[in-house]
Amino acid sequence: MAVKTIWPIHYACGHQDDRDLSDRPADRRAGFAEWLAKQKCTDCWRADAERTDQDKADWLKARQDESDAWAVKFRMPPLEGTERSVPWGVRCRHQIMDAAHTALVVEGDTSVAQWEKIEDSARTVTRAGWWIDQRFSQPEDLPELLQVATGADRPTENPHF
Ligand SMILES: [Zn+2]
Repeated sequence: MAVKTIWPIHYACGHQDDRDLSDRPADRRAGFAEWLAKQKCTDCWRADAERTDQDKADWLKARQDESDAWAVKFRMPPLEGTERSVPWGVRCRHQIMDAAHTALVVEGDTSVAQWEKIEDSARTVTRAGWWIDQRFSQPEDLPELLQVATGADRPTENPHF
């Protein structure tokens, strides 16, 4: 008797379907059918993928709204850059500033007055690409990075130089 080609599969999602496994070698069909039974059916798999995409879009939208609101609250100016880099830069700036505030003020010994100076110099850096570039920086390095960005450390730091 030939090995059957149509296998009824009871998928892990609860659906069932007859799968034509004739394109598989006869001696692999049982193993493949067993593997299939541990998966979700194609429809459920596709629905999951679409949901994941939608979740990602929703998550991004929520973060964007949060970052936009944060920028307004802390009087951070609009950023300059391409259509793609501006919203991304706004999110990076929010994340970087939040992390730096936690590291320097909440957990560190930076005073509120010192922090306000950091915020002031952050306001002068309006290039979206700069904020995107700093997204993996250490939170406590922000003051130094801002100094470099604003050129504030270039004057007479070392008179012999
Ligand atoms: Zn299903």
